[in-house]
Parts: sequence; structure tokens; C-alpha cells
Amino acid sequence: MINNPSLSLNNDRVREAQMPKRILCVEDNPQNMRLVRKILVHHGYEVLEAEDGNTGIALALNEKPDLILMDVNLPDIDGLEATSIIKAQSSVPILALTANAMYGDEERCLAAGCDGYISKPVSKNILLDKLVSVLGE
Ligand code: MN
Repeated sequence: MINNPSLSLNNDRVREAQMPKRILCVEDNPQNMRLVRKILVHHGYEVLEAEDGNTGIALALNEKPDLILMDVNLPDIDGLEATSIIKAQSSVPILALTANAMYGDEERCLAAGCDGYISKPVSKNILLDKLVSVLGE
């Protein structure tokens, strides 16, 4: 191998470009959190976790994740209300996790500022597809 300084500089740039994306998951159900965490970590994402809406808002604004997965039903405030609060101060993409994929849910999510939604139970392939389409990888 030739020791080529410009090549190693390029490698550093590649490494920087490949920094793991950080995803905040706001979810109060431990089993759902575990499932989502497992999928995300396995696919190279870094995961931040919040079990309620107010913690989620604080992490969203302080930690500046690349994307947020937001459960709609949370113990303190509604996930869509948390989304509105975050979106008033940040352009971070937010995907809602909705338990009842009923007619009108998508409209409610979009009206709150969500960039999309994922119906529960969470499908690994749908989750990964949505992340790639929003994060543009
Ligand atoms: Mn919930």
C-alpha cells in the first residue's frame, strides 16, 4: 500500500459522512420501545429514548436528533401535541407511531406537523423504509 495523505483525508471525510443518524423514540410501552430499539440499533442508528411527552420535547430540543418516532398515546401529553410544540421550534422530521390506524389518523398527524406515520404493531420493513425515505439514505 502507498502511504497517500490525500487518501487518508478522504477516508476521514467518508467516516464523518457515515456518522450514525440519531433517532429519538418517544414511547411509553416498554415492549414497543424494545422492539424499535432493537431494529434501529441493528441497522446502525443511534437511539435516544423518552417514555413521556415532556421528556421527549426536552430531548428533541436539547439533543437535536436527526428524526423522531413519536407515539401518539403517551402518559402525560398527547404525542401530537408534543409534535406541535417541537415543530414550533425545530424542523426535525417526526413520524407518528399510531395504535389505531383509523380513517382520519393521517390527517390528524399531518395537521400536528408530523412528516408521516407508522401504524402499530410496528413492521420492521415499513419502519426502515420510512426512515430511509425521510432521512434520504
Ligand atoms: Mn403509548
